[in-house]
Amino acid sequence: MIALVNDKIAFISHPKASLHRMPFPKPHLESFENPLRYQMAERYLEQSGVLSDMIRVKAPRATLKDPLLVHSPYLVDTVEMMSEIGTGQLGESAYASPDLIRAALLTVGGSMKGVDMVLAGDVKHAFVLMRPPGHHASTSNAMGLCYFNNVAIATKHALQDKTIHRVSIIDFDDHHGNGTSEIFYTNPDVQYISFHEYDFENFGLGHYDEVGYGNGKGTNINIPLLETSPDISYESAINRIMIPAVKSFNPDLIMVSAGYDAHYADPVGNMDIDSRTYWRFGREIDKIVSITNARGSVWVLEGGYNPFTIGPSIHASLEGLSGNTQPILEDQIDREVNKLIVDSNDEIIGKVLETIKAFQKK
Ligand SMILES: [Zn+2]
Repeated sequence: MIALVNDKIAFISHPKASLHRMPFPKPHLESFENPLRYQMAERYLEQSGVLSDMIRVKAPRATLKDPLLVHSPYLVDTVEMMSEIGTGQLGESAYASPDLIRAALLTVGGSMKGVDMVLAGDVKHAFVLMRPPGHHASTSNAMGLCYFNNVAIATKHALQDKTIHRVSIIDFDDHHGNGTSEIFYTNPDVQYISFHEYDFENFGLGHYDEVGYGNGKGTNINIPLLETSPDISYESAINRIMIPAVKSFNPDLIMVSAGYDAHYADPVGNMDIDSRTYWRFGREIDKIVSITNARGSVWVLEGGYNPFTIGPSIHASLEGLSGNTQPILEDQIDREVNKLIVDSNDEIIGKVLETIKAFQKK
């Protein structure tokens, strides 16, 4: 018997999400999170034809109450007030512009809309192409180009639905999502899995020993990979850690912090992957939805700072989510693989598995 399955994907965006811009010239980090990355990605996706089967949605604006689902009133008030002033520093690499509050609330609104559409059964997956990004924003601090934590707010919003008891967040941005990790660190209902570049010499946040605390113990899974990690290391971490961990947690919804700055041509990240890995994330997350309680997945753009590679990278993710074979795209060039890095990553993956073993159901 053929079951009727809704395989549609929503593509959520808003032209005004491109307005906010921090007042810095290149090569300042702040200059890379700019309107061009949004505009070029959207144009690429439109021209590629990948959006033709998708439901295009203009993001609604969230209210000032929505970020309070995860943030302190102090942070929300500060973002609003400094946008009115039109300038000033909110945190490390987080500066205001006159358009900040509008872009930030639209991005929160788009992320929540993605959740609403999946929960209503209108679509199986949603992709939110909006900015500014969010995964570095913690309960009370804007930082790292982020002001409101879009994915965390949308996750809390989803958990307000009586049918949603557990949410898994998969974060494949080049950087550790310290904000998301902090917000849900003691929450047993939210599983956070982060793939990121990690410096084992300086031991910042993002080590695999950070497993969550109290009732949340075991729900925070860090996969700290070495600089210049290739596609094969991601494939291994996806298969050995991500898939079994999400299956074991059995979420009702999957949220994705979709950052594309681990691309080999990214000016900020130092990893060595291309759109083939971004296709793999889409393909595997779609498959996980079919074997768990998850009703679908909602993807929200995080980093990705080469405006020429964000488009093909998202294109590949969308093909994966659609159940299509891996597309051949212009960024997929053969690059030399450093075996030492692959072997060291395999050891790290083994350590992660050993660390989280105690918390997983068989
Ligand atoms: Zn990043």
